[in-house]
Parts: sequence; C-alpha cells; structure tokens
Amino acid sequence: MISAKCTPELSSPEKTAKSSVCEASFHPSRTRMKSLETYKQMNKDRRAKWKCDQCAAGGKRSRNTDESSDSVEDGGESAGAFDVVTAFAKLSTQMAALTSVPASIADLKESVEFISTQFDAFVADTAQMKSSFAKLENKNQQLKMSVETLQSKVNYLE
Ligand SMILES: [Zn+2]
Repeated sequence: MISAKCTPELSSPEKTAKSSVCEASFHPSRTRMKSLETYKQMNKDRRAKWKCDQCAAGGKRSRNTDESSDSVEDGGESAGAFDVVTAFAKLSTQMAALTSVPASIADLKESVEFISTQFDAFVADTAQMKSSFAKLENKNQQLKMSVETLQSKVNYLE
C-alpha cells in the first residue's frame, strides 16, 4: 500500500477529503470512509460538509490547540446544516465543561438565597410602611377634624 503520508494525493482536492471543521486533509482510505471510491461517490455538498473521524466523533480537543481551531470558532463559511453541526460540536464542548458547574450552582444558590432574604426584608419593610401609613392616615384624619374645629371657631370670632 502507499505510505501513510500520501503526499502527492493530499495535494489533489479530488482525492483528498478535507474536514469541514478542522480543515485538515485526509486520504479517504485512511478515514471511516475506508476507500477513495466512497469519497468520489459523494456529491460536492456532502464533500464540503465532510468531517474527519475526530471531528465527527465530537471534536476532540487535540486539534483545537493549533491554529486550525479558528475555523471552529468562526463557524465556517458555509451556512445552514453545517452551522447546526458546528453549533452542536460547540454544545458538546460546553456539555463537557458542565463538570465544573456544581460549584457555580452552589454560588447561584447562595445568590438566590441572598436575594430571597433581601426580598423578605423588603416585604417586611413594606408591611411596616403600610401600617405606618395607616397610622399616618388616622393622624391626618384627626388633624383634619382639629382644623375644622379651629376653622369654625375662627369663623365664630370673625
Ligand atoms: Zn477534523
């Protein structure tokens, strides 16, 4: 068989499968397609969307450490289904990052409890204000009566 490098073949787009995610080129027979024939049978669209085994397996991080990771971040130049695939790959990465979430949730819980405590205090304040207001209203009523009394006395004096 030809050497694993297959250098002349890798330079030919007709015989080289390019991963749409990491943009690395592969000889089709060295991928899950098993043979060049499989690749030749694919239409232009499918070839453009083809992903290497690694990217298809959920985007292992090994490729993301080099400069080709940019194409992953950019989401690629083609639109539609490919974006969904890219988004899904990103989601998978984010899901992997979820292992660090419990700590964040604990923080969040703390925040929510703090806000809840603040809210309870606010409700208590509001209740107090309400009763104070009722007292003020009562006081105001009394003052109004006093004024009316005084007014009638003034009227009498005039
Ligand atoms: Zn790839």
